[in-house]
Amino acid sequence: MNLKRYPDPEVPEELLDAIRSLPLKREVEHCGQRFVVSPFDIYATCPKCGIQLKTRSFSATTEVEDVFDAVFEWMNQPGAAELVRKRKELSKRTKIEHPKWGYC
Ligand SMILES: [Zn+2]
Repeated sequence: MNLKRYPDPEVPEELLDAIRSLPLKREVEHCGQRFVVSPFDIYATCPKCGIQLKTRSFSATTEVEDVFDAVFEWMNQPGAAELVRKRKELSKRTKIEHPKWGYC
């Protein structure tokens, strides 16, 4: 049985740590006010002046949010949601039974 996946890039531990620690909200400041948006929002609207602000970069640099976007895209496939549900459940149980293992 061939378990080799293609493409098979090296995934640095630093990237995994960045994914695990991504905050659930992003703080944006405009007009002297701070407000929060999703870390995945590309734009935010200032609640005071109504201007649309870009909250993510479109540079050639890949951000950790781009990794999530790729996963979300993958999750749009038929059948992916069930695989994700099962993996999340196993991950939750493993974390409870083996807290030192963390996510696996
Ligand atoms: Zn504003």
